[in-house]
Amino acid sequence: MLIHIIASVTIGSMVSIILIRCIYRMPDDQQLWTPPLPCLSCNKALPWFTSVPLIGIFLSSRRCPVCQRALSFQPLWVNLSCILGTVMVVLLRHNLSLVVIDLVFIYALIVIAFIDYNCMIIEPRVVILAIAVRLIWLAWFQSHSLLHYISSMLIAAGAFYFIGFFYETLRRRQGLGDGDAAVIGLIGLWTGWETLSIAVLIAALSGILIGGSLLVLQKRSLATTRLPFAPFLCIGGGSVYFVQELAGISLTL
Ligand SMILES: [Zn+2]
Repeated sequence: MLIHIIASVTIGSMVSIILIRCIYRMPDDQQLWTPPLPCLSCNKALPWFTSVPLIGIFLSSRRCPVCQRALSFQPLWVNLSCILGTVMVVLLRHNLSLVVIDLVFIYALIVIAFIDYNCMIIEPRVVILAIAVRLIWLAWFQSHSLLHYISSMLIAAGAFYFIGFFYETLRRRQGLGDGDAAVIGLIGLWTGWETLSIAVLIAALSGILIGGSLLVLQKRSLATTRLPFAPFLCIGGGSVYFVQELAGISLTL
C-alpha cells in the first residue's frame, strides 16, 4: 500500500510538471521546455525551483524574486489535482490497462479545464490525442463496447452542438463555446451516454456555485460576464466517471 502511494505521488508530481508546461505553452504554440516559465507579472524567467511540485511556490516565499509580486497559486492546484487523481486511480484500480486509460482521462481533463479557464479556448490537440488513445484502448481491450462508446461520444457532442445552436439563435449571443461539444464528446467516450445527463447537471450546478461565487468575489456582472464552461464539464464528467467506475455506484437519471 505504502509503496503504491509513494509511486503514485511521484508519478503524479512528474506528470504535473509536464501538464503545467502544456497549460501555459500550448495556447500560444510555444515550445514546451524552453525558455523557463516566466512570472505572469513581469514576464522574467522564474528560477528552476519554483517548478518543484507542491513546494516550489513556497521555496520562493510565494513571490517573484525579480518583481516581488505574488506568484499564482494555479501551478499548485495543477500539482494537487494531478497527484490526488493519480493516487486515487492507482489505489482503486487493480488492472494496469485500466490505470493507464483512467490516468489519460484525468490528465486530459486537467489540461483542458485549466487552458479553458485561462484563455477561454479548448485545446484541440489534447482533445484529439485523448480521443485517439481511448479509441485504440477500446479497440484493443474492450472491442465489444467500442461502438457503444463511439455512439455516446457522437450523441453527446451532437446534443451539445444543437443546444448551443438553438441558444445562439434564440438569445442572439453565444452560450456554449465552440469546443464545449468536443469536450462533452470526449467525456461521453469514457462514461457512456447513460450518465452524461448527471455529468451536465453537476457541471451546471458547479458552474453556478463556483463560477457565480468567483464573479461575486471579483465584483463582475453575473449577467454579462462569460464564464468558461469546460472546467465545470470536466468536474462533472470526471466525478461521474470515477464515482461510477471506482466506487461502483450506478449513476443514471
Ligand atoms: Zn515577476
